[in-house]
Amino acid sequence: MRREEVENPFMPNALRNLHFVADAMLGRLARWLRFLGFDTLYYPDISDSRLIRVAREQDRLILTRDTRLIKIKGVKDYLLIKANDSYNQLVEVIDTLKLKEFNPLSRCVECNGLLKKILDKIEIQDFVPEFVSLNFNVFLKCSDCGKIYWEGTHPKKFREKLGEVLK
Ligand SMILES: [Zn+2]
Repeated sequence: MRREEVENPFMPNALRNLHFVADAMLGRLARWLRFLGFDTLYYPDISDSRLIRVAREQDRLILTRDTRLIKIKGVKDYLLIKANDSYNQLVEVIDTLKLKEFNPLSRCVECNGLLKKILDKIEIQDFVPEFVSLNFNVFLKCSDCGKIYWEGTHPKKFREKLGEVLK
């Protein structure tokens, strides 16, 4: 990961206009998109009507695997996802929307909140394992749920996969 991406957790302009809401079947995809910096709402047990309303009110693109949902009256902006596997779903979204700008580690994968850089390591020392506070210097904290992130938060396998996607 490039250093400036870690140091500047705020969104570049191009990403500000793209907002998603993922259907109940796309939880893992939602996490991937958040990790890449995309504003992605996801509620595991959202009803179709609420999903449609949230999309309309907040001007969000619906990500769905549900061919029935897209036929419901009032559904306009959607992307019907065909892949089964979350990684391939992500590739599908990136290819279809021709996404080129990513901002990893700017959003919380758990809750979609924005991450803020921690300026003083002392702030997080009590909240991460000791080896982490000793071995890492850049920390980010979710402004909504408080989850703390550092360069090694995501397992190696995840980062390798991500490297393939961003290639
Ligand atoms: Zn969070």
